[in-house]
Amino acid sequence: MYPAGDRDDRWTEPQQLVQPLCNLTLEPAAVITPPCHHTQQFEAILCDPSHTPPSSPRPYKTAPERNSSASIEGTAPPNNTRMASAEVYRASEPARWKYLDRIRTRAGPHTNADIFDGSAVADAMENMKILVIGAGGLGCELLKNLALSGFKDIHVIDMDTIDISNLNRQFLFRQADVGKFKAEVAAAFVERRVRGVKITPHNCKIQDFDEDFYMQFQLVVCGLDSIEARRWINATLVNMVDEDVEDSYKPLIDGGTEGFKGQARVIFPTITSCIECQLDMHAPRAAVPLCTLASIPRQPEHCIEWAHVIAWDKEKPFPALDKDEPAHITWLYQKALLRAREFNIPGVTYSLTQGVVKNIIPAIAATNSVIAAACCNEALKIASNCAPSLGYPDNNYMMYSGNDSIYTYTFKHEKKDDCPVCGNLARELVVDPKWTLRELVDSFAARPEAQLKKPSVRAEGKTLYMQSPASLEEQTRGNLDKTLDEGLGLAIGDEIGVTDPAFATVSFKFRLKFEK
Ligand SMILES: [Zn+2]
Repeated sequence: MYPAGDRDDRWTEPQQLVQPLCNLTLEPAAVITPPCHHTQQFEAILCDPSHTPPSSPRPYKTAPERNSSASIEGTAPPNNTRMASAEVYRASEPARWKYLDRIRTRAGPHTNADIFDGSAVADAMENMKILVIGAGGLGCELLKNLALSGFKDIHVIDMDTIDISNLNRQFLFRQADVGKFKAEVAAAFVERRVRGVKITPHNCKIQDFDEDFYMQFQLVVCGLDSIEARRWINATLVNMVDEDVEDSYKPLIDGGTEGFKGQARVIFPTITSCIECQLDMHAPRAAVPLCTLASIPRQPEHCIEWAHVIAWDKEKPFPALDKDEPAHITWLYQKALLRAREFNIPGVTYSLTQGVVKNIIPAIAATNSVIAAACCNEALKIASNCAPSLGYPDNNYMMYSGNDSIYTYTFKHEKKDDCPVCGNLARELVVDPKWTLRELVDSFAARPEAQLKKPSVRAEGKTLYMQSPASLEEQTRGNLDKTLDEGLGLAIGDEIGVTDPAFATVSFKFRLKFEK
């Protein structure tokens, strides 16, 4: 990311900028110490503009040919009423790629002039197979951006169908699409609007595919709202790395948003810090202590939680709380409002009440748009080498906050040796030796570095507790009430292995340390 004020300097004084990716082969001394021996090989993949993926090779077309064939091959307009606008699209096709081709076909301050071949860059991008995970708020933006950035072979996975509440920001969907699969509708929409792009939809979970499926892509871009899905694809891509096979390295670009905040990051599996290394960036949100709710509320949310947790229980206005029932939300809203007035706290509204009670994080179209643009920018940089991407060689994580004007911060998140996915050391786990195994098992859900909902635990070769199958669960259930030290005989320094069905390929290794 460049500060806005540096824009002109970018072209006049390139030597002051980050080490360009393609010069790395010429000036290795300027590069930071490679994190591992994979680096050299990966560098070669990234720096070789003539590197083309093995699958679906197509003969290269020059820029004018691409433009004219695109305008001829375009989908026929569905009817006469749309003819006029379809003609406009066709006529504008050459213009559509003009500026992109200036970036792709010309050498810039970050390209190695000796080996640069602009036509090969455009060719490689056209042949590249790119996977987008998620066709929701971020996914719609990503598909549109990637198609308009010159990627021609895109796959998209999303298991969800379109809900009416998606329509305010998931702009590839219309009211008539409600109930249809997101991936399918999004793919068809972008294909109609961007001539020559092929988008293959998959209406299923990412876990439904195996490594062979993921192996066909050169880049994976995630626009997900689930941490669990991110962790799964991250573990899968890291596991797929075979240091002797250059095509087994799949860069992962991950975008995420929450309200006005978001992040874009790039992961080069086994080379840079992975999503599991960065898990503490997604710490579960701290609950507000009950005493704050009961005695000294400071925020409108505290007043709403007070109405939700305390007042509702005390007064029981309805037999059971139905969060989708307007009468129930109205009751909570009015209670919260009275309490807010008492403490002089502004900001309690009906929609905030609904949001807090249903734990809704507002999805903001503008944030999605900023983050998807950043992610697509990284994809373009990795695919074309027109500029150094995030993660190479240094900063790999860009945070964005729109809470108070616009703020971004880009930094390097370090790879962790005790990462259960890309590291090989056991992670230290501080526990109270008097805890029961049940307390230990329950604690894994809340620990920012683990976040495991259904953990099974083994120690020093024996099974302490297994969640499944049912017979094994029954056999090991008795251990749950035993204490760690006397009951189970665990000692300081013992290594325990934790698995969770959500991450079948990962065994989380922990080394016990007792609290004093
Ligand atoms: Zn890691």
